[in-house]
Amino acid sequence: MNVKTLPFASLIEHPLLVDPAAAGDDCVVSTNPATGEALGAVRLQSRADYESLVERAQLVQKSWRQLPAPKRGEIVRRIGNAFREHEQELGALVTMEMGKILPEGIGEVVECIDIADFSVGLSRQLYGLTMVSERPQHRMYEQWHPLGTIGIITAFNFPVAVWAWNAMLAAVCGNTMIWKPSLVTPLCAIAMNNIAHRVMREQDIFQPEEGDPCDIFGLIIGSDDEVGETMIADRRLPLISATGSCRMGRHVGTQVAKRLGKSLLELGGNNAIIITPSADLDLVLRGVVFGAVGTAGQRCTSTRRLFCHSSVVDDVTARLVKAYGQVPVGDPMDSSTLVGPLINSQSVDGMRNAITKAAEQGCEILCGGTEGIDQYADSAGNYVTPTIVRVPAGQDPEIAREETFAPVLYIFEYENLEDAVEAQNSVDQGLSSAIFTDSMREAERFLSHDGSDCGIANVNIGTSGAEIGGAFGGEKDTGGGRESGSDSWRQYMRRQTCTLNWGDDLPLAQGIEFG
Ligand code: NAD
Repeated sequence: MNVKTLPFASLIEHPLLVDPAAAGDDCVVSTNPATGEALGAVRLQSRADYESLVERAQLVQKSWRQLPAPKRGEIVRRIGNAFREHEQELGALVTMEMGKILPEGIGEVVECIDIADFSVGLSRQLYGLTMVSERPQHRMYEQWHPLGTIGIITAFNFPVAVWAWNAMLAAVCGNTMIWKPSLVTPLCAIAMNNIAHRVMREQDIFQPEEGDPCDIFGLIIGSDDEVGETMIADRRLPLISATGSCRMGRHVGTQVAKRLGKSLLELGGNNAIIITPSADLDLVLRGVVFGAVGTAGQRCTSTRRLFCHSSVVDDVTARLVKAYGQVPVGDPMDSSTLVGPLINSQSVDGMRNAITKAAEQGCEILCGGTEGIDQYADSAGNYVTPTIVRVPAGQDPEIAREETFAPVLYIFEYENLEDAVEAQNSVDQGLSSAIFTDSMREAERFLSHDGSDCGIANVNIGTSGAEIGGAFGGEKDTGGGRESGSDSWRQYMRRQTCTLNWGDDLPLAQGIEFG
């Protein structure tokens, strides 16, 4: 189905959109992972297009930063309302282009609305501290200024929310931005940017003498080699916020550091749940199944490893295998489906390789497996069967240390909690973690300095499904960045420490006498 035939086609109108049948080498074709059909094609933008976008974004930023933050907040409020107006259509578009089931597609749009609301409130709370000066008749305080024009690079699996997390905060903070979305999901990017532009055209709050208000929200759809590399090397962009694989983050982080720019990295995870003897196994079952098979295992926070106490491992495993047998895989638009397709055939191959390696490394494949992939060989969609792998006691297979972006769950068993926490922490990634326990001591142990080393640590809920109010991100190879709620906004601003002398003497700090 071509997007031009959709009832909400007007959301995706764009001069770069071309008929997929006429798409050449200079285009990227967006494909529905559930059907293999081309949804649309987009002509790739060039370095010259990028140059023009940055110049325009920089020009309008000069006026945007002068607009009081609460007024910027009012504009963001209208953008959030426009997302609300199109919640269902945008959710459907996310599902069609990315393949997550419709409730999750709509949920992703709700995240955009939530972060817009959060940013509106924040626009009146860009607080700085006041410090006590050691010098008489001096006042010290800090204030926060916008950074300028920032770069936003997003992954395919959250094609609208990750931009919104960055864009709504960055906008109230007084920045303008250039968004480079994944080339796998260009239509979602066009739709979101179109909505922001429509609001900018219709609003009457910000009418700069120079520059176009639409240029606050720049979008560049271009290749990593031509546009991506130019962007990360561009000294005019003081911050690059990049979401994606650890491989990408290592490269982007290095390039940005070379020019002493700031990067905000949100990279891969290898998230685990620890299940203790006192855990409520009904909660465990729901938390693990949602975490491991939800979004077909394509969330950065998906549950990939389970550490079960030896006293419950057989029971938990049996219940999970049974539950997996009942999980409906299929069309993500169908309301009975819980697991949609993977994004493309490379992802299917990646899952197949991981399962093969797990078997070679001594693990037992309990359900799903390569047969569960083969059963969809004739389907046009990239369907797979969620897979459970049991790791023999005392083993530590190399494959379970990697993030396979697919629904593969490794079950380990442990004897004491210290060993489980150590094993959980032993991987390179450090995004999300959870413990299921009814013991207050075990929960606190997990949350203590000796506990989980991840950016997110949960008790009696799974690893995925974060709320926007908290700072989101992880440690180690996950990149150390924090986006979304709490005080993440500070990363989109620069701190300035100000000292004012209102006396008629000039005392020096540390009591230094000079001359
Ligand atoms: P990816 O690394 O293949 O691509 C991510 C983005 O980086 C894309 O826009 C891509 O075009 C861009 N990119 C790649 N090379 C670049 C370069 N040289 N210069 C500039 N840009 C470049 O990731 P993906 O397959 O789209 O997404 C899946 C990955 O993202 C998983 O590892 C997942 O865990 C991670 N992810 C992390 C978070 C988080 O918040 N921690 C959120 C979502 C996804």
